[in-house]
Formats: sequence, C-alpha cells, structure tokens
Amino acid sequence: MTRTATHCPYCALQCGQWVDGSGAVDGREFPTNRGGLCQKGWTSGALLGHPERLTTPLLRPSRSDPLAPVGWDVALGHVADRIRALQAEHGPDAVAVFGAGGLTNEKAYLLGKFARVGLRTSQIDYNGRFCMSSAAAAGNRAFGVDRGMPFPVTDLDDAEVVLLAGANVAETMPPLMGHLTGARLVVVDPRRTPTAERAVAAGGLHLQPVPGTDLVLALGLLHAAVVDGLLDADYLDERTTGFDEAWRLAAQWWPERAERVCGVPAADMRTVVAWLAGARRRYVLTARGAEQHAHGVDTVSAWINLALALGLPGRPGSGFGTVTGQGNGQGGREHGQKSDQLPGYRSITDPAARAHVAGVWGVDPDDLPGPGRSATELLAALGRPDGPKALLVFGSNVLVSAPHAGAVAERLAALDLLVVADVLPGETAMAADVVLPVAQWAEEEGTMTNLEGRVLRRRRALRPPPGVRTDLEVVSGLAERLGVGGFPAEPEAVFDELRAASAGGTADYAGISYARLDAGEALHWPCPDEAHPGTPRLFTERFGHADGRARLVPVDHTPSAELPDAAHPLRATTGRVLVHYQSGAQTRRVAELSAVVPESFVEVHPDTAARAGLVDGEWARVVSRRGAAQARVRCVPSLRPDTVFLPFHFGAGQAANLVTNPVLDPISRMPEFKVCAVRLEPLAGS
Ligand code: SF4
Repeated sequence: MTRTATHCPYCALQCGQWVDGSGAVDGREFPTNRGGLCQKGWTSGALLGHPERLTTPLLRPSRSDPLAPVGWDVALGHVADRIRALQAEHGPDAVAVFGAGGLTNEKAYLLGKFARVGLRTSQIDYNGRFCMSSAAAAGNRAFGVDRGMPFPVTDLDDAEVVLLAGANVAETMPPLMGHLTGARLVVVDPRRTPTAERAVAAGGLHLQPVPGTDLVLALGLLHAAVVDGLLDADYLDERTTGFDEAWRLAAQWWPERAERVCGVPAADMRTVVAWLAGARRRYVLTARGAEQHAHGVDTVSAWINLALALGLPGRPGSGFGTVTGQGNGQGGREHGQKSDQLPGYRSITDPAARAHVAGVWGVDPDDLPGPGRSATELLAALGRPDGPKALLVFGSNVLVSAPHAGAVAERLAALDLLVVADVLPGETAMAADVVLPVAQWAEEEGTMTNLEGRVLRRRRALRPPPGVRTDLEVVSGLAERLGVGGFPAEPEAVFDELRAASAGGTADYAGISYARLDAGEALHWPCPDEAHPGTPRLFTERFGHADGRARLVPVDHTPSAELPDAAHPLRATTGRVLVHYQSGAQTRRVAELSAVVPESFVEVHPDTAARAGLVDGEWARVVSRRGAAQARVRCVPSLRPDTVFLPFHFGAGQAANLVTNPVLDPISRMPEFKVCAVRLEPLAGS
C-alpha cells in the first residue's frame, strides 16, 4: 500500500511518520526522531477513523436544546447570520476567535486574517498564550528574535553539559532524549521526573527548587559564576549589553541566600556552574516549568542571563533555547493569530507592519483593528456587557486547558453563540451551539514549523471521512457567507499569501515554497528568497537587536502570586505525562494510552499524604481558593513535602485547571499554571 511521508500530529518535535491509506503509522527517518516515535506517535493512527469522530455539523437551536445533526449549509448559514446580527447590535468586537498552537501555519495565518479583515474584530488570541508566550517575550527582549531553538536539534548530539530548566523531555518528547545521550544533564524540576532520574543515573544532577523560585536559583547560579571567576568576559564585552545592571540585582543572591528561598543546596549550584563553564559544548534549555508563572518572562530572562554570562548563545556547539510544546507552537505564534501580532511576527501596533500586511490583504491599514485581549482576558470577558458575545474556537479545548476552568465554563455559558471546529467531541465542543467537524493531520495538506524553526510539510495520506471539511474550508465558507473575499481554502494558495505577508518580517517565509519543501530541502526561517538556503543557526554573527548585541535584563525574585497559608498549605504544580497530550481530547480516546493512565492523579509525599489522611491509591480532592479537582493519590517519596503535582490532561471534575490561578505575567499575559496554593482532603466515599 502506498505510504505518505508526514509528521506526528502531536508535539513540537514533529517526528517524521509514514502513514498509509489505511491509517497505519510507522516511524520515518527524520533528524529530530531518527525513525523513532513515542507512544503517542505510534498510536496516533487510532485517531483516524475513531468511532467518536465528528462527521456531521451539529447545531443547538437554543441553549436548552440538545445538539442535533444538520447540513453544512444550515450550520454555516446559522453562524454567519448570528455573527451579522451580533455585530450589528454590538459592533465588530462582539465576535471573538480562539485559535491554537496545533493548527498548521496556513490555518493560523488565515484565522488571523479572517478575524481582522473578515470579521473586523480585534478579539483574537490562541492557546499558545498558555504555553510559549513567556519564553517568546523573554527571547525577544534578550535576542531581538524569538525562535524556540535557534539551532538544529542535532546540534545537541555533541553537547557535553545540558541544563534543562522545567523541561521533562523524557515524557513530553522522548525522542529528544536520544540527542542528549552524550551529555551530562542537570535537571531543574520540583519533581523527580523521568528526565531527572536519567540525569542522576548518568552522573548529572537534579536540582529540586520550591515551585515558583526557579528565578532565584538562576540568580544564585549567576552569582556563583561571577564569584568563582567563570564569566566569559570577552563574550560579554563583544556580544552583549546590560551585564552590570543584571549583576546589580543578582549580587544579592549569593548561593547560600538563594538556597534559603529555593531549597537547592548552594554546593550544587557551584557544581553546576563549574560544569557549564568547564565544558566546550553546553546548552541551557527552558520549557513550561520556567515559563508558566506570573513572573515567567523574568524567570526565563534569568536563565538567559546565565547563558549569556557564560557565553553560550550564538556560539557554535553551545546555546540557549526553549523546548516548544505544541506541534506548531513556533509557527502558531508567527502568522497573526496572537492578539498583538500580524504575520511575519510583526507587531500590530507598528505602522510599517500594518501598512505591509494591509497591502498584501488589499485593505486600508487604518481599517485594521488594533491589539485585542490576550487569551485568559478574552475568556474572562465573554458574555460580559463590554465583552464578546460570540466565540469561534478552532482546535482548542479551553474548558480543560484554560486556568480557573470553573470560571471559563461560566463565561462560555454566558455567550450568545459558541462555535467549535474540532475533530473529536472534546469538552468545549460538547458545550457549543454549533460544532463543525474538521479534518485532521493525515487527512489534509499544510505546513508546520517545528521547535527548531524548520518548516515541514504535512501531507494527506488518506481522505477525511464523508461530511468532514478542512478548517480552511470552514473559514473560507464563512467568509463567503459574510460577503468578504480573499479567503482561499487551498493550502498552497494560503501558504503563498503567507509568504508574501511574512516577507521582511522577523519570521520571513518568503523563500519557502511547497516545491522546495517537497524536494526535501531543510528550510529554517528566516528564508527571504527562493535562492536562500534558510537559517538553521541564528545569532552566530549578531543578535536581532539593531546593535547586533544580546541584552542581559535585570531581574529579581518576586514570590508566586498565591502562597500557601493555613487553609491551603501546599503548592500545586501541573504538567504532562508520557501517554497524554495537552487537554487529552485526543489521547484519552486512544485505548492503548488511556489504559496506561486512565484518570487523573495527584502526586504527594507520603508524609504529606499521612498528615492529610490520604491513602495511596484512593481518591482525594485537591482544593484551591477557586475550586476543587478530584484525583487518585500517588505517594511519591521523591517529591518535595511542600508540593503536589497534577497532570492537566483530564476534564470534568478531574480537571487540574479547576484549581489553577489565572493571574497573568504582566508582559506575556501567560497564566500561572505552575503554582497555586491548595489543600488535600480525602474524597468522601472513595
Ligand atoms: Fe509525536 Fe512528539 Fe512523540 Fe514525536 S515526541 S512521536 S512528535 S508526540
């Protein structure tokens, strides 16, 4: 049977896959995975032809009615009619759009254009706000460019030392561990994750800070580097600015003082800095553990400052990077589905950027809306007098993935119109007024941009089920019914327009074509013209700021927004497990995966469990100031006694986000998923 070369539907490693016409999946040789897949990738074929697959539009005539099957004309006509009526009554911002970091580049681009030109609304953002925005903001202010990994993943093969801050890659993207086998690993994580276990087993270190104090740890490491004479002074002189200002704040965090706040032994800090400074090829990589805080941008900046002080970024064989999470977490933030952004990673408030993009779109720059609300703020405004009355959701399951999920449910219920385009009946889709069944990864053409900024072709291996349309066809069909042109449904046509819109921007795709990708070229942006080979490594000569230098940013410790007290004495943190992905809407429906982890759990130290009257294997309530989540108790002796951990893949009463804190980083507007105060209670009757 013919098989098609494509990529995994899940995470940002975008492992190479073969998919045949029956939906059978096999690993495919590709630099990030070298033929291997994780359990999620191997079982992803189960999503194709899944018995719960949405295959016909569903419509709920009123909130008290059940969803009922309708034809596409009825569904799209109803949505268009409601949009027209709500905008006529309340103005263009009455309609909002919510996108996703798993959407292809073409979808992300067309959604951004559809919001600004088709709907004339400023109210668009996406779930990447929950997962990469702090790293993006910190990368931009340090380097002038935000590309998760500014070097190919294969550069890590030769690393001698790698520090992973808040990155549990052994579970989130296991094939990446194959690139780290030769390196001594230092893992920063409140939990003894599988990644931390591997580090310790191979002679590395696990640094186990109090949740929310990673920034202090990074400052302590910088302090040790300075005092122990391990700075790269020539690099700082030639390639950076801002060291003195950053040091003025770091100077107060000598390792012993940092230890008192973060709990990591000062001796370990000195050891780690000596390892990093003493190696020739070394990397600092961060992920969500460092980013999902009310001070996540500053925390990432603290890790970047350390990397700059040691002379890593832009040096061949060394570097700083962030391990992107969602499948198109990189491309998803480049093409205009962020509330403050236009294609090409341009600012929506920059007059030159507005003029360029408006020219491609054939509209007057003055007619383009300005910045809208960020994701959490957008969800909080739904149905309020000054907020959107309708929400169109593409590829996102906000009832599970957004912070303070109980409040999100209330806001969705207050809408006049909730429309969800999705593949499977996730929690948010089932709460919608209109559900639009759409094609998935191996059923459509498109491109993704992986964690190293490489643009990849997703190819169609089989046809979607009858009755299913692509997201591009949905947007195109809605635009047509609203009487606006310029929304093609053909992926290559959309990509070619994206290339023109991105030309000259930071994320410049102008030289990347389907033809070049299909010919097998490895193209990383920026790639400004078709003769350009792409840019696998950034910053080797200069950084993205006008002076070519990287910036150290002065940052200091700020406690987490919510601290434990007598009523809520523990810190809860959240994360992923190997067999599930994001809100679990897909992986919970794959029998081989859900058999491994079928329900939520709470990891708790045995002493803490005993104090709360909990028994290993029985059910508990995890209670915060906002709500409670049910989870089965797992006693884990290696966990900090002041900390509990919840996976965020489960819905309804088990949703970890029932307890999380929606407080936002002031710069990135990322919520503080990684720390909130909770107590544990036995679940009555369990
Ligand atoms: Fe898919 Fe990520 Fe697993 Fe690779 S590591 S198979 S991209 S989920």
